[in-house]
Amino acid sequence: MKIGIHKGTMWKRFGEDAKYARLAELGYDTVDEDLADIKQPWYSDRAVMEAECGVRRRAAERHGIEIYQVHGPWPTDDTSEEKRVTAWDMMKRAVYGAYCLGSPNLVIHPQMPFGWGGPEDADEAERITVEMLRSIMPDAEKYGVTVCLENMPFKAQRISTMDYILRAVEQVDSPNIGICFDTGHANLYSHDLGEPARIAGKYLKALHVHDNDGTRDSHQMPYTGTADWDSFIRGVASTGYDGPMSLETGGYARGELPDELFDEAERLNAMAARHLADAIEAVRRG
Ligand SMILES: [Zn+2]
Repeated sequence: MKIGIHKGTMWKRFGEDAKYARLAELGYDTVDEDLADIKQPWYSDRAVMEAECGVRRRAAERHGIEIYQVHGPWPTDDTSEEKRVTAWDMMKRAVYGAYCLGSPNLVIHPQMPFGWGGPEDADEAERITVEMLRSIMPDAEKYGVTVCLENMPFKAQRISTMDYILRAVEQVDSPNIGICFDTGHANLYSHDLGEPARIAGKYLKALHVHDNDGTRDSHQMPYTGTADWDSFIRGVASTGYDGPMSLETGGYARGELPDELFDEAERLNAMAARHLADAIEAVRRG
């Protein structure tokens, strides 16, 4: 199993080439690219999207890093039909961006038509999420990108948990629909990370791997919080998941560690990804 990491939260001070050089140096095989920033002109200008993605794709190729998954637009405002027209247009542009990056997967979030804090009409929120997914599937199929719906940390939204993510995804009739399992988000509901992996099952196409204390989505390194990683290993091993062990850790990068500690923390982080990947392979071998 390959290992990867989300690029967006790390090395903000470096240019694209230096970021990819660092990924290779740390032993990563894949990257989780980032097109989240909805204020960027790539969400209004196709040529800007092509140019930006081209720069990143060439940097990835130079350093032998595979772009496996991409963060889609976030946060979008889904609270009116008019605003959803804009948000869903950005989703389609992100599908095209993933294609330009050479990424087989794009990760997006469920719709929050009643805002972040609720109260919500959960059935209506689910219906709108499914409608959004169906509306971007023609682009996903055209460009060969799998759109992965991610489980969320928001307790005011019923669709945050994996059983409701699965229920939404099952209503979309396309070979290009999948699920991204975010371990930190799931840990806010239960430390047993095996169960959501098994629920995602055949739809599991991408991972956001990080830990926390069960109350705050702090994006820590695996084994520094309360998540049950043995359960995670067994759960993922039981699925047909064939993608990378992709981290979404950010705690060290955003922290105030001195350079020499930061370098070691980054190395330890990559070792944690390698450990989990090897452990899953060992379970599969029996
Ligand atoms: Zn995530």
